[in-house]
Amino acid sequence: MIRKRIAFQLTTGFVLIVLVSMLTLGLIFVQVFRQYAFESRQQTMLERARSISQVVSENMQSNGQMRGFGGLMRFLDTMAEARVWIMDKQGNPLILTGGMGMGMGMGMGAGSGQQAHSFYSGPLPAEAKNVINDVVSGKESISQSFSDVYQEATLTVGVPIMDSNKNIIGSVLLHTPVNGITGALYKTISILLISLLIALAIAIGLGVFYSIIFTRPLKAMNNAALEMAHGNYGARTGINRQDEIGQLGSSLDYLASELAGAMEKINQLEQVRRDFVANVSHEFRTPLTVIRGSLEALSDGTIQNPSDIESYYKRMLSETRSLERLVSDLVELSRLQSGKITLNIEPVHIPSLLFDVAKSMQSIADKKKILLDCHISEDIPPISGDYDRFRQLFVIFIDNAIKYSPENSVVTIHADKKNTLNVIIQDQGYGIAQEELPYIWDRFYKTDKSRKSSGTGLGLAIARHLVQLLNGQVSLDSQIGKGTTVTIAFPFGSSSIA
Ligand code: ATP
Ligand code: MG
Repeated sequence: MIRKRIAFQLTTGFVLIVLVSMLTLGLIFVQVFRQYAFESRQQTMLERARSISQVVSENMQSNGQMRGFGGLMRFLDTMAEARVWIMDKQGNPLILTGGMGMGMGMGMGAGSGQQAHSFYSGPLPAEAKNVINDVVSGKESISQSFSDVYQEATLTVGVPIMDSNKNIIGSVLLHTPVNGITGALYKTISILLISLLIALAIAIGLGVFYSIIFTRPLKAMNNAALEMAHGNYGARTGINRQDEIGQLGSSLDYLASELAGAMEKINQLEQVRRDFVANVSHEFRTPLTVIRGSLEALSDGTIQNPSDIESYYKRMLSETRSLERLVSDLVELSRLQSGKITLNIEPVHIPSLLFDVAKSMQSIADKKKILLDCHISEDIPPISGDYDRFRQLFVIFIDNAIKYSPENSVVTIHADKKNTLNVIIQDQGYGIAQEELPYIWDRFYKTDKSRKSSGTGLGLAIARHLVQLLNGQVSLDSQIGKGTTVTIAFPFGSSSIA
């Protein structure tokens, strides 16, 4: 589990980077340092061996043998900071010193072929043999090795001693441990190791630091997303950063707010649907109850009187008609809402259409002794639209005007031509309260006063869709007790009717 954590991955990454880079650098550094130190030490030793060879050569040539330079050798010993061997031309030791101020003294051979003096205090190191072999053949030679005696890397350099005729008359060997180098190397390596430890600590610290910086907002986003999944769209990440993580956070917040909005809309729609179903059932229940009650009374024989029987039939018939109307209104509304209506577009002469509607509504108006007063100017040119839809629209408004007016009142139907074709239907009826005006266009909405009326409250909802369909505009003004004015305006030349 822990391996999958970002903190672990980041820290491991940092540690690996530090380890790899520090170790590589350290190894290269140690190698270069060693190389350089060895080479410069070799160079100094060669220089010294050459000087000694020079001095010994001059001495041998003037004395004929290795005598009288014991003081010099002691000096050389300190100077060279190494053990010094002088060999004859066969490679046998003639003189050797203790070296490195170890107080080994020095020995002197009496001539060529003689054994070294007894002061010689140790065997020649193995690598010295190779060097001697090289040197007796006239070459300078260098050899590196590790000495068990010194527990150190050692250097052995040899140069030939030549007389003035360039004949080899012997050789000089210098042998020294490279303790300075090894010591310095150990010191460097330990400094490198300490820096490595510090760098590792910093890497781990940084790993933890960055993982906190990254994981905290990630956790916040994860929590917010889970909250959203459980339906809490008020959840927010609370991240306020400018980088990519910040952008992701605000996208998530944005998603949450959009989802909240969408959910609210869905809830509203659901409410509308429930209201609709409740309204429809309610509108169906009343006529159905009346029909069932009448049928029961008729079938169990409680009603015997023929005139009663006839009035029962008439009531059932009227309830059935209103059911029929309700169903067809619902179907109409649903078709209008879904936009699945094809218009039969043709030039329509609105004045004759209005006269026609008024004529067919006359009988209903007559029942309430209501006068339908038409002020329709004849010179209105035809506009393009659907004749039946226009008719349906005007019927809804004139029907309302008659239905919600008292007896002996006047309903005025007015049409004129301005920028638009205006149809005004005005009544002297009960009027609608100001606070109810916004709702009268809703499905099934009826004002308190008209609850008992035969209407279903679908008329204005259908009318609103029809006006939209015919590219018109409608407004309704009303004052309680004074009456209602409906104004419908259609543009001329509205060829854009769909
Ligand atoms: P439907 O028209 O479906 O038979 P309805 O007439 O009750 O039923 P709408 O035509 O949509 O339904 O009218 C909604 C409500 O607005 C009416 O119930 C009535 O209360 C009010 N209303 C509409 N027109 C008028 C008017 N001219 N005067 C007073 N109130 C009106
Ligand atoms: Mg109506």
